[in-house]
Amino acid sequence: MFSIHDEALVKDFLKQNKFPPFRYAQIENAIYKNFVSDYWDIQTIPKELREKLNNNFFYYSLVTDHIVTSDNGQTTKILFKTKDGLFIEAVIMRHLTGRNTLCVSSQAGCPMACTFCATWKLWLQRNLEFYEIIEQVYYASELLNKEWTILRNVVYMGMWEPFLNYENVKKSIEIICDQKKLNLANRRVTVSTCGIIPGINKFGDDFPQTSLAISLHAPNDEIRKSIMPVDLTYNLDKLMKSLDLYVEKTNKRIFYEYIMINWVNDNIKLASELGELLKGKLAHVNFIPYNSWEWTSGSYKSTPRFIIEKFQDILEKYGVPSTIRTTMWDDIDAACGQLASKK
Ligand code: SF4
Repeated sequence: MFSIHDEALVKDFLKQNKFPPFRYAQIENAIYKNFVSDYWDIQTIPKELREKLNNNFFYYSLVTDHIVTSDNGQTTKILFKTKDGLFIEAVIMRHLTGRNTLCVSSQAGCPMACTFCATWKLWLQRNLEFYEIIEQVYYASELLNKEWTILRNVVYMGMWEPFLNYENVKKSIEIICDQKKLNLANRRVTVSTCGIIPGINKFGDDFPQTSLAISLHAPNDEIRKSIMPVDLTYNLDKLMKSLDLYVEKTNKRIFYEYIMINWVNDNIKLASELGELLKGKLAHVNFIPYNSWEWTSGSYKSTPRFIIEKFQDILEKYGVPSTIRTTMWDDIDAACGQLASKK
C-alpha cells in the first residue's frame, strides 16, 4: 500500500492501469478540495478505479491515539501513532482573531538535546515521511472544516528538527502550498530551526517566500551552549552570518524565538546583548514564557511577566520589534513533545 499523497506514484499507477491522466485531477480535487476521505465517495471516477485505489493507496498511515482540547476550546492537541508504533504530536491553535494555526511534527523525537525541552527525552526515533507530515495537516484541515472554518497557518515547530529531515519537509511544504492541493500561501508556512546552517542555506534557495524562525534562546554562546548543544557545532557567529545571507537572498524578516527561563537566560543585561545582536536586522523576536513540565519543572521556571516586558522595552530602544507569546495550553501539556513523552 502507498500514500495517496504521493502524486508521482498515483500518476504512475493510473498510467499502468490504463486510466486517462485527467483522472488524477479528479482524485486530487476530491481529496484536497472536498475532503472526501473515502474512495467510494468519489463520484467523479469509475467504480473500477475506486476499487483499485482502495486496494493500493491509503489516506492515513497515522491513527489518532488521543485528542484533547483545552478548557477554553482554543487549543486541540492530537497524539498520533505511526504504523511502527511511535507517538507524534500536532497542535491546533484557534486564535481569537479567527486565524487557525497548526503546529506539526517532522521527526519522532529529537536528537538536539536542548535542556529545557520535552521532546529530546524521546531521543530521535526516526524521521517522518513526507506523507506523515501531510496527514497531520490533512487531519487538522478536515477537523476545522467540520467547524466551518479553515486552516490558515502551518508551523513546523512540533517534534522536530525539520532541517535534519530536509527532503521530507521540503516535499510536504510543496504539497501544502500547491494551489491544486492544500493551497496555503507560502508566507503562511513557517519552519523553525534550532540553527542547522546547511538547512538554512538550502531553505533560502528552495523557499524564498516561506517564513523562517530561529530558536535563539540566548544572545551569547556561553548561555546558548549551556542549554542548546547545537551551539557547539553552529555557534552564534556562524549562525548570524548564515542568517544575514538568508536575508540577502530572500529579503524576509526572520522570527527569533526566545524562551524565557527564570535565572537561566533572563538576566536583564542579556536584553541589551540581544538588542546589540539584532539591531539593524530584519528581525522580530517572540518571547515565550517557559511552560514547565514535570521532568524539568524542579529546575526550570518561567520568567515573571514584568521581566519579559522589560526585555521588550529594551529591545524597542534598539529598534527591534517583539511580542510576548500567550500560552494557550497549560491544561493539556501542549508544549512540544509533552504528551508523547508521557506516552
Ligand atoms: S527545543 Fe527543539 S531542537 Fe531542542 S530538543 Fe526540543 S524539539 Fe529538539
